[in-house]
Amino acid sequence: MKTQLLYLENSYLKEMDAVVLEVIPDGSGWKIILDKSVFYPMGGGQPTDQGTITSDSWKGDVYQVLMKDGEIWHYVKALSVPTIGMKLHGVINWERRYKNMQVHSAGHIVDFAMYLLDYSPNTLMPFKGDHGKKPYIVYIGELKEDIKQKLEDKANELVKKDLKFTTLFQPFKNLQKEAIYLQPGLPLNKPLRTLRLETVGAVADGGTQVRSTKEVGKIIIPLIENKDGNTVVNYFVAPLSS
Ligand SMILES: [Zn+2]
Repeated sequence: MKTQLLYLENSYLKEMDAVVLEVIPDGSGWKIILDKSVFYPMGGGQPTDQGTITSDSWKGDVYQVLMKDGEIWHYVKALSVPTIGMKLHGVINWERRYKNMQVHSAGHIVDFAMYLLDYSPNTLMPFKGDHGKKPYIVYIGELKEDIKQKLEDKANELVKKDLKFTTLFQPFKNLQKEAIYLQPGLPLNKPLRTLRLETVGAVADGGTQVRSTKEVGKIIIPLIENKDGNTVVNYFVAPLSS
């Protein structure tokens, strides 16, 4: 990959200076590769970042960012063509990103709560999640009991404790030692980003995260469904009432 992924190192970085490495026409705009980026590409259930990139004489609106063929592509609309070698200043739409971070981290809090309640990964194996407008987490396996209230209470207990999220890159074998579960298909030949929740545990994760659990707000579990042998935990976040 040609792009240095700044968002992996610091989820709170909102701006960057970058150089255009590649430009390809796309629809009524262009898709471009930059040497570094704070823009999070849609993936891992987290929506794309949006924002602007500008030089002294050029301005582009970034409406989506995608990881494709091993590269990060910024899809831009602009009045004129961006050129290779152009120096740009990029700024993400922070309000949108922060909301996405809150929802994504809340999903992990729900998942850690499932672990603390001893449903995951033994009875239910985490499978995938979506942390967009209607967030949910899918587990392989079904439960006979209704754990909606119990899960919501446990998740909000973690929120109230204001536990710290931290990330670090480490080899697979180190991650394996501390992870509460490992999703299939993790690459073995490069350092993996580990997400730790203070006093609870760790998982592999490449998304953006808030610094501590209290930042997500109140977690609400409106519905847990059984679907084709899977359990779908729906959740959303609301502002904390003081
Ligand atoms: Zn995640």
